[in-house]
Amino acid sequence: MTTTRPTWAIIDSATDVGVLLGAARQLSDVVVALVIGPRHLVEQASSSGFSETRWLGEPAATVGSEDYAAAIAELALRETPTAALMASSTRNRLLAGRLAARLDTSALTDVSDLRTEDDTVVVTHSLYGGAALRTERLLSAIGVITISAGAFAAFGSGPSWPGPIVEASCAVTPPPISLLERRSEPRSAGTLPQAKVVVGAGRGVGSRDDLGVVEELAQALGGQMACTRPLAEGLNWMGRDQYLGVSGLSIAPDLYVAVGVSGQMQHMVGVDQARVIVAINNDKAAPVFAESDYGIVGDLHQVVPALVDALKAVS
Ligand SMILES: Cc1cc2nc3c(=O)[nH]c(=O)nc-3n(C[C@H](O)[C@H](O)[C@H](O)COP(=O)(O)OP(=O)(O)OC[C@H]3O[C@@H](n4cnc5c(N)ncnc54)[C@H](O)[C@@H]3O)c2cc1C
Repeated sequence: MTTTRPTWAIIDSATDVGVLLGAARQLSDVVVALVIGPRHLVEQASSSGFSETRWLGEPAATVGSEDYAAAIAELALRETPTAALMASSTRNRLLAGRLAARLDTSALTDVSDLRTEDDTVVVTHSLYGGAALRTERLLSAIGVITISAGAFAAFGSGPSWPGPIVEASCAVTPPPISLLERRSEPRSAGTLPQAKVVVGAGRGVGSRDDLGVVEELAQALGGQMACTRPLAEGLNWMGRDQYLGVSGLSIAPDLYVAVGVSGQMQHMVGVDQARVIVAINNDKAAPVFAESDYGIVGDLHQVVPALVDALKAVS
């Protein structure tokens, strides 16, 4: 059951548009997009099925979404939406914290299930590194919620007729931190949360050069590469936005192939929504096998090239 009050989706990235609409519709049939970003992002939102799209403005390079917290809180207190939903990016977590403080509530983070009961919002999210799920009922009038990546399906099958765009540019609080430098990561996860097939590399791969073996498998499967945390933080073989798990991304692909991954809980919570998990590991006692639908015990340097050859032979 949904409520009659509108739900807000705060959008600052093109990749989140459909998923935020899908999540917000769990609460309300009336979903208003609040867009922080360039004109083309507003146009994308307005043709995605929102009841209304409001353009809060395009932030200057030195401003982040979190600097819109005061303006959004003021609007929320006037209009009392059911909740303001946003994706779980670093910036949005800052925004959620600031917004929740101004609305005298708590930010509900990494939410994987949303519903209304008796016109109040009920959310489920993971805790203890994903070892348990907690379901909470919102007691405040307005919820501030970040949604877990991969937990909600995008709404709509493609662009529809553009809905109304309201220019609602608002005052931005001058940021208390000044930007000194902006550097792009050498590789970016980009659309990893939306990928249908993901191949995850673990420390068992052995060296940065050997990552090519895993990459070939990802390509042969038409999928994307991801990794465990040690490969992104410490070894620095892959980007920090490519690791999966409790402190990285959570994904829900059709297929996740774990290559040289031991399967520690902190990693597996990021992939436990995958429809099928396949593990390749030379240690038959590796915990990853208990979490997998299919397992291959063997040296990845032999197993993976053989799989790639077999896939090429049938494609
Ligand atoms: C607070 C906290 C948060 C954390 N958050 C995350 C997180 O978000 N994501 C995350 O991934 N980790 C996280 N970790 C780290 C996590 O606990 C594990 O240490 C990490 O996931 C292990 O990475 P791995 O599987 O690549 O390496 P390892 O545990 O070293 O496993 C390597 C595996 O490769 C196998 N192997 C070795 N050689 C071969 C070969 N030739 N062929 C086949 N298999 C081979 C080995 O048998 C082994 O099972 C966190 C830890 C802490 C304390």
